[in-house]
Amino acid sequence: MTPPPGRRQSPALRGALLEDAAQRAARYLDSLATRPVAPPAAAVARLDVLDTSMPAAPSDAAEVLARLDDIVSPATMAMAGPRFFGFVIGGALPATVAANWLATAWDQNAALATATPGVSRVEAIALAWLKDVLGLPASTQGAFVTGATMANFTALAAARHRVLLQAGWQVEAEGLFGAPPITVIVGEEAHPTLIKSLGLLGLGRKRILRVPVDGQGRMRADRLPRMAGPTILCLQAGNLNTGAFDPLSDLCTAAHEAGAWCHVDGAFGLWARASGRLAPLAAGIELADSWATDAHKWLNVPYDSGMAFVREPGVLPAAMAITAEYLPAGDGARNPADFTPELSRRARGIEVWAALATLGRSGLAEMLDRNCRGARRFAAGLAAAGYEVLNDVVLNQVLVSFGAPEVTERVVEAVQADGTCWCGRTVWQGRTALRISVCSWATTDEDVEMSLAAILRVADRVTASVR
Ligand SMILES: *Cc1c(COP(=O)(O)O)cnc(C)c1O
Repeated sequence: MTPPPGRRQSPALRGALLEDAAQRAARYLDSLATRPVAPPAAAVARLDVLDTSMPAAPSDAAEVLARLDDIVSPATMAMAGPRFFGFVIGGALPATVAANWLATAWDQNAALATATPGVSRVEAIALAWLKDVLGLPASTQGAFVTGATMANFTALAAARHRVLLQAGWQVEAEGLFGAPPITVIVGEEAHPTLIKSLGLLGLGRKRILRVPVDGQGRMRADRLPRMAGPTILCLQAGNLNTGAFDPLSDLCTAAHEAGAWCHVDGAFGLWARASGRLAPLAAGIELADSWATDAHKWLNVPYDSGMAFVREPGVLPAAMAITAEYLPAGDGARNPADFTPELSRRARGIEVWAALATLGRSGLAEMLDRNCRGARRFAAGLAAAGYEVLNDVVLNQVLVSFGAPEVTERVVEAVQADGTCWCGRTVWQGRTALRISVCSWATTDEDVEMSLAAILRVADRVTASVR
């Protein structure tokens, strides 16, 4: 079916290939409602079939696709399905999968607005909608990056630029050699990737000051060190274990009184702003100077997708523009590459636009509220059965202990082997726990009931066997 090298493929063959891919993808997604969430060991072992030497000659594209589907589809974790509750990640909304395919066919290099006007414009519109629905200040500029790790990196590069400029230092030109030192403050519960981002920026993983947290993982405002000179304070909206929010309003205000930059890692917690019911959790977040969030978590778009936002216009491009002297475009045209670490990149804002366009304000709020309702239902059902819920379930995260650490570990393994749903294991302030994270558009109240029943069935069996 593949034409000889150098010959154009017929439109009919190309169409058949893409339709075959669409049908295989639809069959795969249909299977997720009933198949075990984790892949069977035999399917994972079968991946060996692909481990051949590099093919010497071309192969037919349809056959290659069929092999990929036959061997790899059964070896996937059903992350796109309705009962995957691991790692605080969602599945991809159907509209975003479809938009992703179309954008992949466009194959636009989203670096330069003049070369790719269509996707550049849609990304600019998506950023405006994000600012609106997340309640960020009108002056805010943003960038589409791969996820919260790079969003933190990007926003913190802007922070580094600004606090050093204030001290008379041009970090992009001079580097950090001989620069005034920057004090970086984080909470004890900062996400490990935030620490990594600070290390990548030359701010030193070991030099960071860590503020003690309370029993929910919230930074203690009364333990904030004295701030003076170039300072960056990193806050968290949504702890990956408890879902808790730092006291944002108090901490942002304290940072600004000391002339410090206030950054918020809101990988999933920033989305609380999009629900009237949840928004009070993130009160004061709009006071910050920069924000990082994920779209591939709670907005439910395909990997990889995150956004960085910076309040003061010009600061993000000052850190990210390729030319040393960033000149704001006089005609208002937004050159995407002036805002991101990358030059060439895919137009990942397309799927963000598609998610916001299809959900609308009310659909987004409904999804967030439904997920949080699911988390509360899990917590209530597990507590009613006599198991200990370790966190205040304020958002979409539930931590539950089934007794001694080894018993909880056995329950986690048994839940994963049972296959009805998938939850991970974590250690929360010294306690081993099963972590349930509800963040998929696909999860219905029925899925929550089915999963709760499975966890209780498994936990009762395991705890009875150790008594
Ligand atoms: C998931 C997460 C990150 C890292 O996000 P990636 O998208 O995996 O890079 C950072 N911070 C918090 C709070 C997170 O939950």
